[in-house]
Amino acid sequence: MNRIRVLNESVANQIAAGEVIERPASVVKELVENALDAGASRIGVEIDGGGAERVRVIDDGCGMSPEDAGLAFERHATSKIREAADLAAVRTFGFRGEALASIASVSDVTLTTGDGSSGGGWRVTIRAGRRVAAGPAPHPRGTTVEVGHLFLNAPARRKFLRSASTEVAQIVDRLTRAASAHPAIAFSLRSGGRELLNWPPAPAAADRLLQIMGADLGRSMLRVERREGPLRVSGLASVATVHRPTARDQHLYVNARPVRDRGVLHAVRQAYAGLLPTGRHPAVHLFLEIPPAEVDVNVHPAKSEVRFLRPGAVHDLVRHALNEALVGSPVAGRTEPAGRMVHEPGPAPAWVARPSRARERPPAGTPPGSTPDVEAREPEAGGLEAAGLLHRVPFDALAQYRESYILASAPDGLVIVDQHAAHERILYDRLLRDSLASRVERQRLLFPVTLEVPATHVRAFEIASDTLAGLGFAISLFGPTTLKVEEVPVLAIGSDVARLVRELLDEVLEWDRMDGWEALRHRIAASAACHAAVRANHALAPEEMNRIVLDLMRCDRPTTCPHGRPSLLRMPLDRLEREFGRR
Ligand code: ADP
Ligand code: MG
Repeated sequence: MNRIRVLNESVANQIAAGEVIERPASVVKELVENALDAGASRIGVEIDGGGAERVRVIDDGCGMSPEDAGLAFERHATSKIREAADLAAVRTFGFRGEALASIASVSDVTLTTGDGSSGGGWRVTIRAGRRVAAGPAPHPRGTTVEVGHLFLNAPARRKFLRSASTEVAQIVDRLTRAASAHPAIAFSLRSGGRELLNWPPAPAAADRLLQIMGADLGRSMLRVERREGPLRVSGLASVATVHRPTARDQHLYVNARPVRDRGVLHAVRQAYAGLLPTGRHPAVHLFLEIPPAEVDVNVHPAKSEVRFLRPGAVHDLVRHALNEALVGSPVAGRTEPAGRMVHEPGPAPAWVARPSRARERPPAGTPPGSTPDVEAREPEAGGLEAAGLLHRVPFDALAQYRESYILASAPDGLVIVDQHAAHERILYDRLLRDSLASRVERQRLLFPVTLEVPATHVRAFEIASDTLAGLGFAISLFGPTTLKVEEVPVLAIGSDVARLVRELLDEVLEWDRMDGWEALRHRIAASAACHAAVRANHALAPEEMNRIVLDLMRCDRPTTCPHGRPSLLRMPLDRLEREFGRR
């Protein structure tokens, strides 16, 4: 008996759908790409229920004739190539002719289209892969595709759909990417009748980015523009007072294609060298235009890397362009409000009487608390006390070195404390401990801070609102893309609240849901602590130094900051004596 069988059309389509259509955002992606391929100048997306209930994409592209509208749903039906030789020259997104067939096999689809000819429009209705109706229907030039009940006949896939807000976030992400690559095309998104995005045609990529960022964030970006010979770079770069915890917000497009390039990243680092606090990164969006003969795009299968004919010239162009933009931009450390420590809450130092409490878990991803120490034997986390180091002799801050390090005498020798890392550790532990006990000290802002945010941040806020509330932030949605902050944890007083909230939302976007909510709480606490902690290059009064050293020693893991960087080095007395030949 034969065991191999040719699958029938509908099963084959469902299998293809499994590959192409993973979630509502994939439907949006395919339909938007079709609209772009059709030469649309406006693309409107409407969704309900995170897209699982309904996705509707409206375009004003070339539309289809009634015959084509029927054929569009056949597997391997495409107007974009005819023979294998055409493959080499495809300029469109689609060409495999699979998307509509795949989508229609796992949903209810209504496609209405008009090609602007006098015959009017045409509508085709498909239910779970079967055509149920086709006939004339009015439609201006362009196409409207409505996809309902996604995965209605694929329960396994339906089960894997995340919450509506997660799906919306994915869709926003897709549209953001499509819109940044096509500034001249208008994009809009409505979810459940609410307008989430509305981006009119923009003259250049940088202008579209400013639309995406929103007015507030846009004000912190500098325009970049420089030409050298046949090379041109343009785009946006953050002012030096605004920086991020990671280099994730550094984007490079080479001839409109997103790529990563170490050389350009290096040029960015050089341009900002000395302007940002250590460990902080700028946001940049750079569009490089380069003659095709000077760049090889086929060095990476996904074309996400390129090779430049003259890498040095590209590097210098980017560095000079950024230098020019940054001239006159305020410098980070200098604009920090002074006297942050005055707001420092907490009881008077009582380092010997450390309150006993449950150990807190380190945030996911924190390396074990090891210190590249002058002394090899490092006590375990929380073990300074256990190791007998906390005798009756208190720690005593002796001096501050380069306004960044505190030199202190410890019961058994000397310690050098990185003031920022140490303060970060102290604030982080306190915030986590207090939030576990639901007693984070909060402060109502005299003037609530409202901030305009990109739609991705609105989603991030919706995902993390409970966690943020637990950490002392009272934030609410104040408009489609506006957040209002009314209360902050006391440690955040004196910081730039809008900037802090944006960074926390960045953390939410970086968080992997698989790591769990606790990891998110740790992440947000670490970011808030980093933001509020006293910076390097900041003069401290003796009491402030003592407070930091004492508070640090009371932490469970005094030797590292929440991100795993060392916060203290030790030079034990016996080692010192040995080094000087006294023993
Ligand atoms: P592909 O895009 O790979 O060709 P699709 O299944 O996405 O395959 O679409 C099949 C065909 O239907 C396209 O080649 C195109 O001719 C037509 N089509 C789909 N969407 C649109 C649209 N929005 N406007 C005009 N034509 C469309
Ligand atoms: Mg397509």
